Amino acid sequence: MYLDIIKLADKLSCVTLLNEELKKHTSFKIGGPADLFIYVNSTENLKILLDAINAKGIPFFILGNGTNLLVSDEGFRGIVLSFAKKSNELTIENGNIINCGAGVPLARVCVTALKKSLSGLEFAWGIPGSCGGALFMNAGAYGHEMSDIIIEGTHITDSGNLQVLSKKDLNFSYRKSFYSDKSFIIVSMRIKLKEKSADIIRAKMYENISKRKDKQPLEYPNAGSIFKRPIGYYAGTLIEKCELKGKSVGGAMVSTKHAGFIVNTGDATAQNVCDLIKLIKDKVYKETGVLLQCEIKTLGNISF
Ligand SMILES: Cc1cc2nc3c(=O)[nH]c(=O)nc-3n(C[C@H](O)[C@H](O)[C@H](O)COP(=O)(O)OP(=O)(O)OC[C@H]3O[C@@H](n4cnc5c(N)ncnc54)[C@H](O)[C@@H]3O)c2cc1C
Repeated sequence: MYLDIIKLADKLSCVTLLNEELKKHTSFKIGGPADLFIYVNSTENLKILLDAINAKGIPFFILGNGTNLLVSDEGFRGIVLSFAKKSNELTIENGNIINCGAGVPLARVCVTALKKSLSGLEFAWGIPGSCGGALFMNAGAYGHEMSDIIIEGTHITDSGNLQVLSKKDLNFSYRKSFYSDKSFIIVSMRIKLKEKSADIIRAKMYENISKRKDKQPLEYPNAGSIFKRPIGYYAGTLIEKCELKGKSVGGAMVSTKHAGFIVNTGDATAQNVCDLIKLIKDKVYKETGVLLQCEIKTLGNISF
């Protein structure tokens, strides 16, 4: 089924990997193999590949940096498309507008903004995702989110058309965007920042990363906050109140540092994480009446 796609990808100089373990591509270090993994090297080639993949009716998934993702132990019967090796598309126009390719790590954009004395992205320093993932998720922290700085997103629709959407059409809300319930592929975004002293920007970035190091279990593989913030509460505080800090199922454990995080203590399976999530949701609901909703995205056969 995949032979024609592999031949086409080779012709387009896109690297292909068969039965690639997805645990190598997720910050949780969890996930079985994808039948086929393709590093996409340009928007044009992505369009060509998508046409072929859709013509064959093969399921596909677009992977960013895998930092908000739980992949099932059985992996994914389909094709994973990654921009990860195409991460050099970053240009600045008019002094304060940055065009970022979807595969560019958000951290690289933060550093570029600092070097150019451009402010607005300090909140994102320490969010380990790609630009595509950050736009998809409307990633945010410390009272700011991507929607504050986005001008527009460019994507390929499921029928293969390249489209540009401006901020007002991107329907941003908390950890959600226009893209969240679609299978469109974000190829780039444009953000607008403001000039400010590099010293002030650097100080804010330092402050933010210090808070992360203090509060987040960065010493273990994890996928960031597992749950969305319920209105009027903090998920971590509710979980802690239910005395679930340190609770584990197999190798998955509620972080003892921040109860909103589940960490992989070494050999966690996706099933361990799912069972722990179910346990947390049940207990928090029984004891507080709050129904937690997951923030993380899933790939493969996963249910909470
Ligand atoms: C230690 C740690 C701290 C974190 N802190 C924060 C935080 O403060 N705030 C926050 O919001 N998040 C945080 N996260 C979560 C995560 O980093 C963000 O959600 C990030 O935006 C995800 O980007 P990604 O590239 O890793 O996406 P992935 O995890 O690879 O994918 C997430 C979703 O986006 C989709 N996607 C990715 N790229 C594209 C694309 N090009 N086109 C279409 N769809 C795409 C995927 O299909 C998937 O559904 C944290 C995670 C970790 C591990």
